[in-house]
Amino acid sequence: MLDADFFRRWMTATAASVAREAERLTALDSPIGDADHGSNLQRGFTAVTATLEKEAPDTPGAILTLAGRQLISTVGGASGPLYGTLLRRTGKALGEAAEVSAEQLAEALRTGVDAVRTLGGAAPGDKTMIDALVPAVDALGDGFAAARAAAEEGAVATTPLQARKGRASYLGERSIGHQDPGATSASLLIAALAEAVEASGE
Ligand code: ADP
Ligand code: MG
Repeated sequence: MLDADFFRRWMTATAASVAREAERLTALDSPIGDADHGSNLQRGFTAVTATLEKEAPDTPGAILTLAGRQLISTVGGASGPLYGTLLRRTGKALGEAAEVSAEQLAEALRTGVDAVRTLGGAAPGDKTMIDALVPAVDALGDGFAAARAAAEEGAVATTPLQARKGRASYLGERSIGHQDPGATSASLLIAALAEAVEASGE
């Protein structure tokens, strides 16, 4: 079972990974965006870990809900409300249980990803974070390592696509040939989840 400490470790691992990869995320956001994705997310996840330390919520649902709210209020740009919605809605779906199963988390993440699709209007193939998140939740039935691999493959597979949502879509065909920054950061979030699972021995 996955407890509050597990979810805290997931958020901490994500923050560390985003900090390590911030320059790369911003570099990916240069040719097809406004070169702020790494700094946006680094600011957001730094605020998430600080808030989790201060408020110390004690259930998985409360941790993700608080993290999501924090992202919405600290990340400028499209990705803040989208990632904020992902975590908030996943957290709400987990309810008030002290521990959740991997299956419950998989189901809750599906709800969170659906909420991101509703909010942003992006479908798979539009060259957004959805292209990493949807394959990840689809693969969760085969375990967290499979979800991680699917997210990474999904991010890489955005390169030949033309963007149909977000800032990159303004470039039309010129968005082709670049990996999407948001799909890349989404694969970091899922990789951190898989790492947290491995560390917990689930
Ligand atoms: P901004 O584009 O406002 O500068 P960021 O650079 O932080 O915001 O994030 C850009 C990323 O957000 C994109 O690479 C894409 O993956 C994601 N994104 C943008 N618009 C949407 C959308 N409508 N639905 C899903 N993801 C989106
Ligand atoms: Mg940007």
